[in-house]
Amino acid sequence: MKKRIIFIIAIPLLVCLIWYLQRERTYTSNFFALDTSIELKINTTSDGNKILQKCEARIRELENILSATVENSDVWQLNKNAGNGQSIPVHAETIYVLETAANVSKLTDGAFDITVGNLVDAWGFRTDNPSVPSESEIESAINLINYKDVFVDEENSAAKLIYPNQKIDLGGIAKGFIADETVSLLKSENINSALINLGGNTYAVGKRIDGKEWTVGIQSPIESNSIIGKLKLTDKAAVTSGDYQRYFEENGIRYHHILNPHTGYPAESGLHSVTIVTENSTLADAFSTACFVMGTKKSLPILNSAGIDAVFYDTDGKITATDNLKSTFETN
Ligand code: ADP
Ligand code: MG
Repeated sequence: MKKRIIFIIAIPLLVCLIWYLQRERTYTSNFFALDTSIELKINTTSDGNKILQKCEARIRELENILSATVENSDVWQLNKNAGNGQSIPVHAETIYVLETAANVSKLTDGAFDITVGNLVDAWGFRTDNPSVPSESEIESAINLINYKDVFVDEENSAAKLIYPNQKIDLGGIAKGFIADETVSLLKSENINSALINLGGNTYAVGKRIDGKEWTVGIQSPIESNSIIGKLKLTDKAAVTSGDYQRYFEENGIRYHHILNPHTGYPAESGLHSVTIVTENSTLADAFSTACFVMGTKKSLPILNSAGIDAVFYDTDGKITATDNLKSTFETN
């Protein structure tokens, strides 16, 4: 009799314990890399902290390959050897980013152009004291901009910049690519539910722990801690470029960090922000920068033929979403 009672109590307890130990749990990690704050959230039954550590290591590894300022990175080597005729061996990841960048440059008629390195330096956007450069500084930086001067030898995994002093800057595409690589790593670890945010480059993997779609807010460019609307996402990236993210003021004028490669000045296309929504985050990042330069009217037909979705927030407050997003985007 006593034995029976013990069984009756112990078995359900054991079942509960097994369930408790094997249930899906949420793990998060926050750290600073890629010059921004990174937030990773995953749902898993395995050791989530170990997986998050692997993600952080991979993000830092890719930063050391793609950053223009990290000594001996692929981009640093390409810039240092610009114009000397020699192709530099680079990682397969760099080849992919250079090729994707070239495709987006072609599709956007150079609105996106990674050879803006000297122009970004002239404005000092990577320093603590950005300022308006002189006309002559702008002109000499513009003369070195041409995405067609990035020579890529895919077969030998090598690349070069054709002219001396040319300089590439992957600030408009690298975070998107690194988000894609983080998602690949998560999938190889059997993670089917995650939300990653690399400084505004978000990626929603699968669904939330409650089975609902992830919700991503689009930041208001005017009011901090406020959003202009929400996107419901599953297995998609949402990447925003805006005039409020990095800027300085001089003589009462605001200058932001997304530059028009044709004029040499911060893009003035009538937009406060643009958010690109698509599966490939590398493309989403490059297009977010390009569409910000081009404005709503010029961007829409290009996005349409590429099958890419977007939400535009014009400086007059008008919000335009592509047709596919009508059911997944809610304005506030
Ligand atoms: P963020 O990096 O703030 O998320 P973006 O993805 O729009 O925003 O990238 C802006 C960065 O891209 C700039 O800081 C600069 O390094 C680089 N950049 C600026 N203008 C261009 C351009 N027209 N084409 C390509 N890269 C650009
Ligand atoms: Mg971008």
